Amino acid sequence: MSTPDRYLTVLDMSRGSGELRRVDPTKPILTAFDYAATRGDGAFEAMHIVGGVINKPERHLDRMARSLQHLGIIGPTKAQWTDLINDLAEQWPDDAEGVIKLVISRGQEGGPTAQPPTVYGTITPLDPDLKKQRRKGIDVISLTFGYPAAVREQSPWLLGGTKYLSYAVNMAAKRHASSQGADDVIFVSHDGNVLEGPNATVLWLTGSTLHTTPADTGILQGTTQEKIFDEAESVGLQTAITTATLEDLLEADAVWMSSSTRGVAAIKTLDGKTLGQSEERTTDLHRLSGLPEPKAKKDKKD
Ligand code: PLP
Repeated sequence: MSTPDRYLTVLDMSRGSGELRRVDPTKPILTAFDYAATRGDGAFEAMHIVGGVINKPERHLDRMARSLQHLGIIGPTKAQWTDLINDLAEQWPDDAEGVIKLVISRGQEGGPTAQPPTVYGTITPLDPDLKKQRRKGIDVISLTFGYPAAVREQSPWLLGGTKYLSYAVNMAAKRHASSQGADDVIFVSHDGNVLEGPNATVLWLTGSTLHTTPADTGILQGTTQEKIFDEAESVGLQTAITTATLEDLLEADAVWMSSSTRGVAAIKTLDGKTLGQSEERTTDLHRLSGLPEPKAKKDKKD
């Protein structure tokens, strides 16, 4: 199978109807004054598609609505977003795992009148390294997030729980991990609470209870975690929202990171220390995440 192309569709909000326009993905669509470029001021969502099936689009659109409410941006209606998603999905071959990204910015900076938001969607092949991490697990380091765990709930301007466009810090943390030979990061609050990864949720197992960290710390509510927790009972797991330290993760029976595109990845080591593993529960979580289970033979590029 050859790697599919990338596709781009603009949702033009300049007239209220929200017109869809397929655009050559190599051609520019933003002006120099777009808030996406000048301030990183906007929101995004990333969801998985394979075999024509988009994984949990409703949860992504609900979170997009929350992000836009936090940012005070009036975006497309749910029906307009759905049309955009479907237009992208139509362009995608069945046999490839792809990532649908929805992007919205506040519009144009300056100008005489209120500007409509800039809205577009892309669909791209899933990074093969992410598939490999889903299959083989990951090495993770902890990094400080700087803030105390409670500060974002008391400070709405810090945009807790918002999937905003300014991911430069998240990407810098991933690059830092990479420079240390690690695959990913667990952010820890100034007062020692486990928060989340730069683009993933932390899950861990004690006995038959699956835990994740509380959202009132301002972490992003993970749609993959939500889906897994909603269906956990079907594989005999209880669920709990639990405040944890790194020591708690070191003592857990198994620890994972979950996200929409990589899916579930077992954490093999945390800060160089070996963590508990459960192959059986990893298989359960792959299944509950809604993404294809890793197949050892398919990703040859190790
Ligand atoms: N936390 C952050 C900061 C993220 O950016 C993401 C997703 O990219 C997640 C958690 C996991 O969320 P989801 O499972 O919805 O992909």
